[in-house]
Amino acid sequence: DSVLELKAVDRRYVQGPKELVILNGADFALRSGEMVALVAPSGAGKSTLLHIAGLLEYPDGGDVVVNGTSCAGLPDEQRTAIRRSEIGFVYQFHHLLPEFSALENVMMPQLIAGLPPAEAKERAAQLLAYMKIGQRAAHRPAELSGGEQQRVAIARAVANAPLVLLADEPTGNLDPKTAGYVFEALEALVRQSGLAALIATHNEELAARMDRRVTLAEGKVVPLPE
Ligand code: ADP
Ligand code: ADP
Repeated sequence: DSVLELKAVDRRYVQGPKELVILNGADFALRSGEMVALVAPSGAGKSTLLHIAGLLEYPDGGDVVVNGTSCAGLPDEQRTAIRRSEIGFVYQFHHLLPEFSALENVMMPQLIAGLPPAEAKERAAQLLAYMKIGQRAAHRPAELSGGEQQRVAIARAVANAPLVLLADEPTGNLDPKTAGYVFEALEALVRQSGLAALIATHNEELAARMDRRVTLAEGKVVPLPE
């Protein structure tokens, strides 16, 4: 019951005369409903792995299987369609649209997916309430605190009910206390929706709260001890 699999994934970057091997035969499987922490030092390749897993980048070799569909050889349009329906992203910085309210930002992916505005609005309001930020729905991103902005970004990431949530340091820009609260809301949402999540983080405390922790070593995804 894996919702996301990396199979023998290779990724190298050419940097001048050197070749930087980031992933080298990396295997990984994310099972339905589990939360996995990806913990590794800066520059280890966490973002690269998340971008490949999220079908934003092609690997140099190997395959990415999303909900049983092999994606390595698919053309861009099909990868985009799978990404939009099955995968949600959260980044360290929120990337919300500045001209729109929190509610409108969460409605946007649903409107793009063709949902009627009334339904999109109802779901957006519900998600903001789950994230404990319902009372800020009418505010634009600039009027929200960093923690509130991340709550909105998380609500937006799951607006189209993806199978998989990929998060790249989602609380990395927040002070420890705010990070804890935002993570708590994220965790509740993931648990409540049965979503599977792969979350890159430097925060050992938050990583310890997930179902398991993995790291990158010699181009492979390996488990960290409990
Ligand atoms: P992390 O997210 O763990 O900090 P990244 O995946 O962002 O790591 O980067 C891993 C390594 O690959 C870094 O050394 C980075 O400089 C390098 N890198 C990332 N993207 C590119 C690129 N497009 N071209 C060349 N090198 C890159
Ligand atoms: P949209 O529906 O806005 O066109 P896409 O389907 O292109 O978005 O991408 C889905 C998700 O991936 C969005 O959250 C978007 O922010 C993110 N994304 C798209 N392209 C990139 C990229 N090159 N690097 C990082 N994230 C990206």
